[in-house]
Amino acid sequence: MRPVPGKTPRVKRVVVVGGGFGGFHCARSLSRMVPRGTAEVVVVNPTDFHLYTPLLPHVAGGLVHAPDIAVALSRLRGVVLCRGNAVDADLDAHTITVLSTSGERFELPWDRLVLAPGSVTRVFDIPGLQAHAHGFKTLTEALYLHDRVIANVERARVTADLAEREALSTFVVVGAGLAGAEFVAMAKRLATAAAPRLRTRWLLLDMAPAVLPQLGEALSAKATDALRRLGVEVRLGTSIREARPDSVTLTDGTVVPCRLLVWTAGVSASPLVQRLGLPLDRGRVVVRADLSVREHPHVYAVGDAAAVPDLTRPGGVCAQTAQHAQRQGPVAARNIAASFGYGELTYYRHRDLGMVADLGGLSAVADPMGLRLTGPPAKLVTSGYHLLALESTGNRLRVGTDWLLHALLRTVPISTGLVSDASAALVAAEQLSIYPPLPQEASTPSRQPSPVA
Ligand SMILES: Cc1cc2nc3c(=O)[nH]c(=O)nc-3n(C[C@H](O)[C@H](O)[C@H](O)COP(=O)(O)OP(=O)(O)OC[C@H]3O[C@@H](n4cnc5c(N)ncnc54)[C@H](O)[C@@H]3O)c2cc1C
Repeated sequence: MRPVPGKTPRVKRVVVVGGGFGGFHCARSLSRMVPRGTAEVVVVNPTDFHLYTPLLPHVAGGLVHAPDIAVALSRLRGVVLCRGNAVDADLDAHTITVLSTSGERFELPWDRLVLAPGSVTRVFDIPGLQAHAHGFKTLTEALYLHDRVIANVERARVTADLAEREALSTFVVVGAGLAGAEFVAMAKRLATAAAPRLRTRWLLLDMAPAVLPQLGEALSAKATDALRRLGVEVRLGTSIREARPDSVTLTDGTVVPCRLLVWTAGVSASPLVQRLGLPLDRGRVVVRADLSVREHPHVYAVGDAAAVPDLTRPGGVCAQTAQHAQRQGPVAARNIAASFGYGELTYYRHRDLGMVADLGGLSAVADPMGLRLTGPPAKLVTSGYHLLALESTGNRLRVGTDWLLHALLRTVPISTGLVSDASAALVAAEQLSIYPPLPQEASTPSRQPSPVA
């Protein structure tokens, strides 16, 4: 691409906040679109990898090793990685405040800013929820849940106290979307492998009337059947109204003794974006179809943190999925390049290509481009999709090998216990306490993601 005649090229800095699906693909496209020496692309991210979240349930279920779903950000050629979190920004002065992983705080100037910090577990004002539930968004949480499932069934197997055994072998998962449905299936299989003779009880709850509603009525019903055959109690129109260390109370009043509560009932945009004074739609940054913010045209937002107009469904906004985020990134990159004089402005328009859900074993449901698949054909499509979507050949080979070895060898699961209870707690695992308090939070002792409707 050539600069538009008449424009004087000079090095501009583009800061991309977040190296996930949106940020990774934005930075990669941008570094390829503008001529070398024209723009410096800086990715601010707390880790040096991009996490392939759709395979987190495989990590929790012990099918895939954790590092194998982490794609090194050093693969982004010509991009500078700044390890840390953006905790604030001055949009008029064109700076962001970074809290580095070593604890230093500094300002980073930018000419264009891309907000791609994703989302955090959405919590509600349910007594005991934040203290006793675990989220399922990070590698830390996936590793912890893997270990906790094994540890609980191992303890249940040896305890003579029947009430204690019942609580230790009961698991409650709230949220029957992709994260919750896949987790419950994989974790149930893990528990069976760890303690084949122990009878475990698994509850999957959701206020919604269907499991995996995004897959449509027919596939949702198939997924529900598959989960019930696996032994999962699927309770729809039900959630929890209180969580305690040793039990939960369901919204229908039933008290269920349990020692592990997993909360996957939705996400809210990163707390960062609530602090920037930008227009928000249910917590997400409102952007135009070119992914820029009307009031600050040099600021762009993509992925789970952005409310992107869905041009295929006028009046709607795009769903918070990896599929959208990874396609929005390159569109933001293209429009930033265009703003520097390289190429043309474009709008984000993407029709959903369908979803895939892996329920472990040979059980899966998928609707690639509207084709409804279940069982082994769906499993094939699901596995192929993940391997293609992973961004590096090395990661693909390692994940494929993990699956193969898991299928061939009947490995006895072990829990390493490397993740402590404290670091797996919701606030710690999702780094919710690093942001300056919002005015309404300043007087309250603890910070948490604001539940948005
Ligand atoms: C268990 C699970 C399974 C899923 N399965 C699927 C699936 O099968 N298909 C699908 O389409 N979607 C799936 N999703 C949803 C998908 O993961 C998200 O929609 C997608 O990751 C959003 O991309 P993003 O770029 O907005 O955010 P992310 O990919 O989450 O990336 C955000 C990045 O920003 C970083 N970050 C956060 N805050 C800051 C900050 N203040 N400063 C700097 N960096 C920051 C984070 O560390 C992260 O690297 C799943 C999600 C989960 C949790």
